[in-house]
Amino acid sequence: MSKMVYSFGAGLADGDASMKNLLGGKGANLAEMNKIGLPVPPGFTITTEVCTAFYALGQAYPEGLDAQVQAAMAQIEATVGKGFGDAANPLLVSVRSGARASMPGMMDTVLNLGLNDQTVEGLAAQSDNRRFAFDSYRRFIQMYSNVVLELDHHMFEDILESYKEVNDYSIDTDLQAEDWEKVVVKYKAAVESALGKPFPQNVHDQLWGAVGAVFRSWKNDRAEFYRKMHDIPESWGTAVNVQAMVFGNMGETSATGVAFTRNPSTGERLFYGEYLINAQGEDVVAGIRTPKSITKVQRESMGEAGLSMEEALPEVFQQLVTVYGQLEGHYRDMQDIEFTVERGKLWMLQTRNGKRTAKAALKIAVDMVAEGLITEQEAVMRVDPAALDQLLHPTIAPGAKRDLIAVGLPASPGAAVGEVVFDPDEAEELAKAGKSVILVREETSPEDIHGMHASRAIVTSRGGMTSHAAVVARGMGRPCVSGAGDIRIDEEAGIFKVRGREIRKGEVISVDGSKGEVLYGAVEMEQPELSGDFAALMIWADKVRRLKVRANAETPLDVRTAREFGAEGVGLCRTEHMFFDADRIAAVREMILSETKVGRVLALTKILPMQRQDFVEIFTIMKGLPCTIRLLDPPLHEFLPNSMEDVEAVAAATGLDKARLLERAKELHEVNPMLGHRGCRLGITYPEIYEMQARAIFEAAIAVAKAEGEAPVPEIMIPLVATEKELQILKDRVDAVGREVMDAEGMEIVYMVGTMIELPRAALKADEIARQAAFFSFGTNDLTQTTLGISRDDSGRFMGTYVDQGIFEKDPFVTLDQSGVGDLIKIARDRGRATKADLKLGICGEHGGDPASITFCEKAGLDYVSCSPYRVPIARLAAAQAALA
Ligand code: ADP
Ligand code: MG
Ligand code: MG
Repeated sequence: MSKMVYSFGAGLADGDASMKNLLGGKGANLAEMNKIGLPVPPGFTITTEVCTAFYALGQAYPEGLDAQVQAAMAQIEATVGKGFGDAANPLLVSVRSGARASMPGMMDTVLNLGLNDQTVEGLAAQSDNRRFAFDSYRRFIQMYSNVVLELDHHMFEDILESYKEVNDYSIDTDLQAEDWEKVVVKYKAAVESALGKPFPQNVHDQLWGAVGAVFRSWKNDRAEFYRKMHDIPESWGTAVNVQAMVFGNMGETSATGVAFTRNPSTGERLFYGEYLINAQGEDVVAGIRTPKSITKVQRESMGEAGLSMEEALPEVFQQLVTVYGQLEGHYRDMQDIEFTVERGKLWMLQTRNGKRTAKAALKIAVDMVAEGLITEQEAVMRVDPAALDQLLHPTIAPGAKRDLIAVGLPASPGAAVGEVVFDPDEAEELAKAGKSVILVREETSPEDIHGMHASRAIVTSRGGMTSHAAVVARGMGRPCVSGAGDIRIDEEAGIFKVRGREIRKGEVISVDGSKGEVLYGAVEMEQPELSGDFAALMIWADKVRRLKVRANAETPLDVRTAREFGAEGVGLCRTEHMFFDADRIAAVREMILSETKVGRVLALTKILPMQRQDFVEIFTIMKGLPCTIRLLDPPLHEFLPNSMEDVEAVAAATGLDKARLLERAKELHEVNPMLGHRGCRLGITYPEIYEMQARAIFEAAIAVAKAEGEAPVPEIMIPLVATEKELQILKDRVDAVGREVMDAEGMEIVYMVGTMIELPRAALKADEIARQAAFFSFGTNDLTQTTLGISRDDSGRFMGTYVDQGIFEKDPFVTLDQSGVGDLIKIARDRGRATKADLKLGICGEHGGDPASITFCEKAGLDYVSCSPYRVPIARLAAAQAALA
């Protein structure tokens, strides 16, 4: 680690955009923008390696850093012709955080550093603007005291508020130079009385104080929570960027703003952003003043009074248009930019690939292919499969009755229904208790993010499209309405008032984030569909995908949804789900509670036609695509009657004695049902159950083949097999039933018998088991339970702690434990294929819809993944990305 500091400025830079790991995203892109000739104030980046070293050394700086920083500072001084700490001609800098991955607002930044009682006079003289100089100084004292000296910012806000009140001022711009001078005196006195020592006047102390604070902010609570949520490793560290200040607060030809090169919510190709005249960067995001639209089109569509930047500063706007065109051409992606205008000159302060909603991601990717900026394959790589989840959830039905209570900005799309809650902690608690909540707040800040995460949607009464709430909600995929200005929250009274109405905490509201509307009550929702940009991207994904994607589905509705979302078959039809229907469960219980084979057969004859009809529907919808049907799997236990009412229903249906039925239910009770009488063990002990199911499958397949002219391909799957012998016995019976039905119907059909691999023994003895199986389907829910010896249904109590302590990187029931369970899958694959080269391999646990697990399945060379119908598009895209990677 010899080079710890990388300079940029005047069109040159030591680093570039490829060096994000070392320089952080902000630093790398500042260097890159310099290199491509954009106007960027000069500065330097202290590397993320220094951050790691800083912590390794117990919060101290590595040797040699001081000299490198001094040299880089001298370079800035030379470029701008000012001196750091020079009383007559002071250089001021910002000290900014910047990690590899963008973590908006999570860490700290200090602006206007280098101001003290002497340099502020120099700045005043030089700029010929005393008001500006002291406005900058008071901002600096507040920020530095908050970030570095860890004093509460309320202290400063209170001083300013009371100063305004005493002097009868209503807004900050009413304050003149002498007012800010007086405020500065008060601020400094407050710092001194809080700390027992004066505000630091030495600019070098200021600089090192700020650098340390930025490094320390890597480990503040907000940053830690954000990292956990976005899987950002703590080991990455943050870089520190020190950069010459440019001033947006120098008067009416100065401004500051943030913008996206395209609309981050819809993806439309429209420059989109907000700005403030005579302000510094923080003001736009902090919600202190309400920012204005940059373009005229945007201003008009928002119905805003006042001028857009396009109208107020037309020349600078033209500079900005040129710059954002250059940026998109160079980065070939939508950019999120920060800029400042100092007396009519534009300066770029940040660019990064903009965060966007899934809808925008799709539109931008598809549009950029049409614009020739990127290829189809790049487009496929641009969309995060997990984010598609946002589009696969309900939206408000077009014809639904809408009782509008408030309107704000459409900050993040999608719709949700939930109970009103005002407090983020309470939101988290209620969500844990299984409630759907909607967080309603004046505005949000980084401290609220746990509560935002726990909420189904977020509503704020203040703030714009780039406010904290809006940005974070889009990132999390939560619908959000921001700046619903009519809402008045009275948290203490537990109500919010809006246009003469009062809504209490706990009342149900609906949020339409796409329209920016808050509606009363639970509004009717509509199911999503695959069309437009989404469909286009899916076609490109399918071109490169190797893994097949099937669905876990058994009801006609689910099977149809799966088909519409592009499933290439059913990977898991759980026949037991069909047993729970109200009109069947009595017959199922009769079968289970029966003490004799005759009794069971009698009950099964009642179930057979219903079961056959289920399969007819599935086969018909799937039109010749493969359908894997799992024979009865769950512990009998799950079907036992739960109440006296249940028992009476069975008694009525069978004429059996209630007391005897109760006794029988007690006999069937199991101590450890998940490892008990279930899966193929049922088939072994009660052969008539599987025989009935096999008969229903064959009869249905032949009926559909005759009716549709296209024969389905049933794949009959035996669950929970541990030994070859189990499978052999059961397969022989299935074959025998098949023979019988085919002979009776006078028609041959193709079918397969295979097994699930969900016990470690089955994986280990896959060579033997493959002798009986045409396919293996990895039932990774059970395989995870049985490999780890952890019950999925009970893991909630400790899994969080396990993940927190890094024992598991992720919950193994969500993302496959690749090193453990994954090894068993590979062993089963190799041993199984050694016996039978064309053994078909798939996965049908929850993991089949998890992008990281799908990547594993691609690498492991499985043939297909199967997941819930709504995850089919996610799996298609994830499989394509895995194939491309
Ligand atoms: P964040 O990552 O929270 O956006 P930044 O480091 O980007 O923090 O800085 C916060 C604000 O200060 C931004 O609006 C940014 O544009 C502004 N800013 C940072 N450095 C400078 C500078 N050298 N001159 C003027 N404004 C700056
Ligand atoms: Mg920034
Ligand atoms: Mg299972």
